[in-house]
Amino acid sequence: DLNQKIKIETNDEFRKLADTFNMMTEKLDEEDKQKKDFVAYVSHELKTPLSSIKLLSESLIHENEININIYREFLHDISSEVDRLNNIVEDLLTSMELDISKIKINFEYVNISTLIEKTVLKLKPLADKKNIKIDVYVIRKEMNIMIDPDRIQQAVINIVSNAIKYTEKDGSIKVMLYEKNGNTIIEIKDNGIGIPKENLPYIFDRFYRVDKARARVTGGSGLGLSIAKQIISLHRGTIEVESQLGKGTRFSIIIPSIEK
Ligand code: ADP
Repeated sequence: DLNQKIKIETNDEFRKLADTFNMMTEKLDEEDKQKKDFVAYVSHELKTPLSSIKLLSESLIHENEININIYREFLHDISSEVDRLNNIVEDLLTSMELDISKIKINFEYVNISTLIEKTVLKLKPLADKKNIKIDVYVIRKEMNIMIDPDRIQQAVINIVSNAIKYTEKDGSIKVMLYEKNGNTIIEIKDNGIGIPKENLPYIFDRFYRVDKARARVTGGSGLGLSIAKQIISLHRGTIEVESQLGKGTRFSIIIPSIEK
């Protein structure tokens, strides 16, 4: 029985061995619990949109005469739920592939200034919808460092799209790229809703969301930051975060610069 603690009190060496075994058992229990939580969470996340889709389509099937506008509205809702499912599945796959190192990291020398400008441009339409201003400041036009451009782009997209998600209408976001102590730093600063201090240590955990109710409205999988962190770790870098509730949040991606 794995839950049975091993008690040996006589010989010191034996006691140490018993302690080690007990520690390993505790660790396995904890891993087991995490796996169970993971399965429970994923099932819930996948089943919720699925049951909405089922319900919406069933009600269309069984209705004899439906006003075309209602019909459209239901189909629109179904389509949004499919989008949500798609996002969750994609994030889950990326996260798991990163976990088992199935994703190959393709390092190459890339001009990160251009990459950041290009990445932010991609998200402009999303920001425009909320009339949020995004400005990019790059310290040097030419900054060639060794990275995997697709992965770095993905990490930056995750953080900038959060900044858009968690900033009110008419807000502003600043993306800054600079160097410090041999590191390349990408800073993403918003003047949005901020993150409570007590939640900050957990935001990079898988599926962690500060406000579950709000998260449902804004979409997302709760995986964006954990994916970003995994990607930056693979570049031997770190992500730092500072936030003030109601004032805004600043994420700093710090990557050691390997320059050409
Ligand atoms: P989600 O898919 O819910 O956005 P993430 O892993 O990307 O998941 O983020 C985790 C949580 O961190 C979010 O649910 C949100 O509560 C909080 N968060 C992330 N970025 C910001 C930000 N710029 N401003 C406020 N809260 C944020």
